[in-house]
Amino acid sequence: MLAAGVAAASGAQAILLERGPMLGRKLRLTGKGRCNLTNAGDIESFIRAFEPNGRFLYGAFSRFFRDDLLKLLGRYGVVTKTERGGRIFPQSDSAVEVANALARWLQDMRVEVRLNARVKEVLCTDGAVAGLECYQGRMEAGAVVLATGGLSYPGTGSTGDGYRMAAALGHTIVPTAPALAPLYTAEAWVAELSGLTLKNVEAALVGRNSGRMAARQFGEMLFTHTGLSGPIILTLSRALRKLDEPADVVLDLKPARTAEQLAERFRRDFVGRKTFGAYLRELLPRSLAALFPSLTGIPAETRLSHMTGEQRRRLIEHLKGLRLRIRGTAPIEEAIVTAGGVCLKEVDPRTMMSRLVPGLFFAGEMLDLDACTGGYNLQAAFSTGAVAGQAAAAWVRNRP
Ligand SMILES: Cc1cc2nc3c(=O)[nH]c(=O)nc-3n(C[C@H](O)[C@H](O)[C@H](O)COP(=O)(O)OP(=O)(O)OC[C@H]3O[C@@H](n4cnc5c(N)ncnc54)[C@H](O)[C@@H]3O)c2cc1C
Repeated sequence: MLAAGVAAASGAQAILLERGPMLGRKLRLTGKGRCNLTNAGDIESFIRAFEPNGRFLYGAFSRFFRDDLLKLLGRYGVVTKTERGGRIFPQSDSAVEVANALARWLQDMRVEVRLNARVKEVLCTDGAVAGLECYQGRMEAGAVVLATGGLSYPGTGSTGDGYRMAAALGHTIVPTAPALAPLYTAEAWVAELSGLTLKNVEAALVGRNSGRMAARQFGEMLFTHTGLSGPIILTLSRALRKLDEPADVVLDLKPARTAEQLAERFRRDFVGRKTFGAYLRELLPRSLAALFPSLTGIPAETRLSHMTGEQRRRLIEHLKGLRLRIRGTAPIEEAIVTAGGVCLKEVDPRTMMSRLVPGLFFAGEMLDLDACTGGYNLQAAFSTGAVAGQAAAAWVRNRP
């Protein structure tokens, strides 16, 4: 959408071909329907979020960045707010509002939008782009921007067509993999907690053999019937690639208190006839409290006054370091973002034009770029789209 809109604003006759029945199907799902569209951080923090490939984005971010995006959306009535971690959302908490604003802008720019129009192949003459082969027939084009997304959430239309088209033209596709994906754990007991959200917890990704910590996150997570999900877990999943050994997630359920502070509190609290089970219900969400006796091996009916020093220590160990063994990530279809894609060495970062096929441009997730959560992935899609659209219009204008 950004590519088509900016190309039209730059004077080109732009046609947007969308295989699905509506524009921005994935955009409408983002941020749990709230759309974390960008981040308040500076360009450097964006580059870091995309490591190790972030440097490629300097060119795009320096040409079209957050303020350009917010100004554009602001013209169509989208007011934004900033939340924890610099995450920027529409004030309305509505991803649909963002998608509709972009659709209205495309109308104003006189972009011709063709829905249910699936592209099959990019056509070339003498090695340069000449048009497209769609399922409905052929069309001529002086330039083509491929922005077909990754492989995650294929129901939204991103099924990897663009990778196949780029590969057919000689582009290298860096092998794709799930990035920002829920984690599957070996512990079956997580199923009993399925649906439980924990806020203000800390999770660390740790190498099982070396004990090396690859990443640590503070915030919100979720138990699923097969493992863990939620913002901090998705971000940790991206760090899995840093470990070449089996990995564990270690949860600190009480990050605001040190082990010593907890020990002090328990020494004070553990008196009288109240049972351990009843005490746990004051300490933890109900479903987690119900599991803790079996996890710690301390019977729920134990009177607090009978708790031994060793039992207190075991309780603290589980509260400050609940360890879950990762047995894999959810498949790419369930990932938020796809890692891998069109090899960046074959794309000019100032224009997003292919270095192999003149007149062919790339934008968005189909490039070999992926970032942690925080609004970075959408901003990169918007920025590379805008740059590709402008460069594609200039390319058509200046063609010999
Ligand atoms: C559930 C979910 C939540 C997310 N939340 C956030 C968030 O809050 N913040 C954030 O920054 N990122 C988020 N992301 C990631 C973000 O949505 C993507 O990185 C972004 O949408 C990528 O944009 P894109 O334009 O490259 O691809 P897409 O948004 O996937 O768009 C590609 C489009 O190309 C069309 N297409 C594909 N093949 C063809 C073809 N052959 N012919 C014609 N059209 C075709 C598709 O139908 C699709 O509409 C989320 C992702 C998911 C799945």
